[in-house]
Amino acid sequence: MHQENKLTTRKSHSSGARRGSAPLQGEESPGLQAGGASLKLLPDEQGYFGKYGGQFVPPELKTVLAEVSRAYLAARQDKEFINEYESLLQDYVGRPSPLYLAKRLSRELGGAQIYFKREDLNHTGAHKINHTLGEGLLAKRLGKTKLLAETGAGQHGVAVATAAALLGLECEIHMGTIDIVKQQPNVVRMKLLGAKVVPVATGGQSLKDAVDSAFQTYLREYDKTFFAIGSVVGPHPYPMMVRDFQAVVGREAKKQIVEKIGRLPDYLLACVGGGSNAIGLFHEFLDDKGVKMIGVEPSGRGLRPGEHAATLSLGQPGTIHGMYTYLLQNETGEPLPVYSIASGLDYPGIGPIHADLKERGRVEYVTASDDEAVAAFQYLSQIEGIIPALESSHAIAYVRKLAPKLAKDQVMIVNLSGRGDKDIDFVADKLGTD
Ligand SMILES: *Cc1c(COP(=O)(O)O)cnc(C)c1O
Repeated sequence: MHQENKLTTRKSHSSGARRGSAPLQGEESPGLQAGGASLKLLPDEQGYFGKYGGQFVPPELKTVLAEVSRAYLAARQDKEFINEYESLLQDYVGRPSPLYLAKRLSRELGGAQIYFKREDLNHTGAHKINHTLGEGLLAKRLGKTKLLAETGAGQHGVAVATAAALLGLECEIHMGTIDIVKQQPNVVRMKLLGAKVVPVATGGQSLKDAVDSAFQTYLREYDKTFFAIGSVVGPHPYPMMVRDFQAVVGREAKKQIVEKIGRLPDYLLACVGGGSNAIGLFHEFLDDKGVKMIGVEPSGRGLRPGEHAATLSLGQPGTIHGMYTYLLQNETGEPLPVYSIASGLDYPGIGPIHADLKERGRVEYVTASDDEAVAAFQYLSQIEGIIPALESSHAIAYVRKLAPKLAKDQVMIVNLSGRGDKDIDFVADKLGTD
């Protein structure tokens, strides 16, 4: 396929810094920063959050994405669409998810009061179902008959296949052949849910190659197909759309914490892969200046190239998968191989909203290693009876460092993005051999 038609990386270029015209719509909430501008805005018309985002795709795809964007902007104002989405969140996903005060953990660490937003209790065991249901409903609104997606660890594939089964849509999931072997239980789940799993044997045979392959299919059959992207990444309007669908997490958390303690929290923490669970928690609080926010990236086995996926901590601006954002890249702008023990965090890019929030200094991004995450996985299991996903364990690893330094009247909310049942065999193996 001609290079133009491939949604791989290109060297960072000046058009990425194109500045926005006026926001598409008014603010969602009047809460203002000291500077006067809300951080909760929609991106500009070209899909930029500050300098980041945009649409780096072949021309024919721009037309399709414009159709998706128009349909979405209408849907987010449409009572019927919102009601249908919210009733699925309530009765199918089981929302609102609880906000749980982890008393033993808080006491043990001896500092801040630690609350968990329990996304692990959602149907399918993680936050991803929040946006795949939204994407599925939008696909139906557009008259599409099929959901198409890529998956790495299979978590996104399972969440998309679930939405497709529920909504009566066909489903096709592209997955690297190495990942298919590594993540067999999720492959079985997807097939059981009626999805077709397409093996991708090109390149490194994992997530990045699955994305390229799925995009190529999309270019052939966008008439009947909706591309269901798995995080706040990809070309506009996906980062905005997935953010909005995930923002329910922070809206609930804000209401719940005010009910419980009568004020806002001091800290919000979440792990960061593409950034959807993190922005889901953060979004509603972005204009609340007193609330500090921390995103935890995976430092894997160390900070050498290929050993981690700490994109915002160690990357540079560049273009990947249709967006201008931070990227772990070599001198020619090709994405570097990345690694994390948590396959959901194993991505060389990052949502453009996070690139913008980093640059504004609104959110701090830190790292946790494989070993710290595995230790946190065991620690939380034993101290609270909650087995967290290895992804979420990165956030907990950082909580173990931060909470003891804070006073007992300080409050943090940690997004427990998923449950760890999927990881127990892997962790048992690892601990067995170590
Ligand atoms: C996929 C996944 C993540 C990472 O994705 P984000 O878009 O960064 O949220 C984190 N936690 C769990 C449980 C996941 O399945």
